Amino acid sequence: MHAMPFAEESPPEPRTRCAAPTSRAWPWLRATVAGASLLVMVACAPVQTTQSGAVGVDRKQYVTSLISPQQVEQEAAQTYAAVMGEARAHGALNPDPQQTQRVRRIAERLIAQVPAFRADAANWQWQVNVIESDQVNAWCMPGGRIAVYTGMLERIQPTDAELAAVIGHEIAHALREHTREQMSQQLGAGLGLSVLGAITGSRDAVEMGNTFTQVMFQLPNSREFENEADAIGLELAARAGYDPRAAVSLWRKMAAQGGGGQPEFLSTHPSSSTRIANLQQMSERLMPVYLANR
Ligand SMILES: [Zn+2]
Repeated sequence: MHAMPFAEESPPEPRTRCAAPTSRAWPWLRATVAGASLLVMVACAPVQTTQSGAVGVDRKQYVTSLISPQQVEQEAAQTYAAVMGEARAHGALNPDPQQTQRVRRIAERLIAQVPAFRADAANWQWQVNVIESDQVNAWCMPGGRIAVYTGMLERIQPTDAELAAVIGHEIAHALREHTREQMSQQLGAGLGLSVLGAITGSRDAVEMGNTFTQVMFQLPNSREFENEADAIGLELAARAGYDPRAAVSLWRKMAAQGGGGQPEFLSTHPSSSTRIANLQQMSERLMPVYLANR
């Protein structure tokens, strides 16, 4: 077992798990829906989403079985198709063929490395598209559906290795199934009324979709999710032959973006004061991996 490389710097931030482990075997959850008290039985099972890799990401994840990977996959497929359809309708999908080719080439090199963390991800239906938008943003939905916004490319002007750091980070969130885990935590915190709606069968599709969208595009990732995505993303980049130290310059550029407020990317991927130092330390440890693969 490896130690989580970034975990020691400070105590973990308070957060809710899938459900408080009040019982050793099966935690139970009490939730209140619209003023009425409803006892919902939530079986919280540990899941192993990824191998720990050289970076040693081995935090145990707990996800309710009531939100299945298939449901999340379905939401992701629908939402991705809708976003891309909208972009196409506005002439904003892959506006510059060269730009798209560049993003896809980098993404493909990273995707080729995903079996190091989870074998099944090699069979995901990976999609990579560029959306014309001023937003400094990029994301990877569950199941390997990637979008990079032109704002990220034009306002940050990333080198290939810096872009690999961004895309690798996003891929890592998908490999770790952070969206499903966060949807699960929403439920555990009693905030997931919309998830509950899905479980209890009321307005299920719409409610599940709303929760997915909220988690995917609005709620910030926890610091531990960010640490994991940094670590796995860095290793994917190093394995793909991209200098992992580029993550340091990338996040510096991101932090330096002022003007019209902070980059959209930072609202869902909040940066901690120790991020740069952590990335520096981690990228140095990954240099042998990079040097062997460049
Ligand atoms: Zn992130």
